[in-house]
This record gives sequence, C-alpha cells and structure tokens, in this order.
Amino acid sequence: MIKDKTIALIAHDARKADMIEWVKHNVETLFKNILVCTGTTGGLVEKTLAEYAKEKNITNPYNLIKMKSGPMGGDAQIAAMVVEGKVHLCIFLIDDLSANPHEADIMMLLRQCRIHNIPVACNRHSADLMITSDLWFKDYKPTTPIYRKFDRGKVY
Ligand code: PGA
Repeated sequence: MIKDKTIALIAHDARKADMIEWVKHNVETLFKNILVCTGTTGGLVEKTLAEYAKEKNITNPYNLIKMKSGPMGGDAQIAAMVVEGKVHLCIFLIDDLSANPHEADIMMLLRQCRIHNIPVACNRHSADLMITSDLWFKDYKPTTPIYRKFDRGKVY
C-alpha cells in the first residue's frame, strides 16, 4: 500500500462526486499519506475524511494541504510542487465535457507530471490501479527521464 507519500487530488466540478466516491473507497490508504488538493476539492475531501474519522473515533487522522482553487492558481501551485519533486502521485479528475477557464494550468500540470515521470490518473480505473500498485512498497526506483534534445549541455 502506498504510504508516507504526497498524493495530489484535483477534481473539476462535474467530477467532484466521483472524487469523493473514490476517496471513500480508498480512505484507509489516504490516511497514511499526505494529501495536497486544490481548494474546493480539498474542502470536500477534508469533510469526507473528517466524517470517517469521527465515525471511527480516530484523532488527528489526516494530513491535508489545501491550495488555491483550481481556476485561481491551485493547479499551477501543484504543478510547481511536481517540478520540485514534492508530489508522488496525482489523481486529476478532469471534466472532459466542458471548457475550463484555466485550461492552460490544467495542461501545465499534466505536462509537468509527464516530464517528471509522476504517475497521473485522470479516470477512476487508472486511479485505482495506481494507488494499489505493489511498486510503491517494492524496491522500485522510477527512471529519470532523459531529455537530450533540450539539455543545453546537461542531461536532466
Ligand atoms: P477546485 O479546483 O478543487 O478548487 O474546484 C479544481 C480545478 O478546477 O482544477
């Protein structure tokens, strides 16, 4: 089970119900990790975790950081964390049926996950596979991507 990692959780409005359902399904795992969320998603996730904690009598149960709301820069803040190596897994439930005012930030977050080899799940099935992967606790080291074309004298 993934443990002591930082998991980014972001859901567009039309996908927030899916995110909460997924959070409930993975609640035990999420308690064992640090969560970083965009503002509104974070509020809903926090409420869900708090309700579970109350029901189970758990004190000081979760570690959740709320960034700005997505359209106000929350995706960009999380993208910056990805660049800094501070995110290990990103669950990003995107509304593919609506236009978003912060499309540039959404693309930036996805791009930075790809560049920095961070697993990013944009649908429920991917999220379930990624969070339950055995590789989290095996002696597995992700390879460092090599961008020779843009290295400007260095291999990053
Ligand atoms: P929100 O942002 O969690 O603040 O709604 C999500 C997004 O739109 O990227």
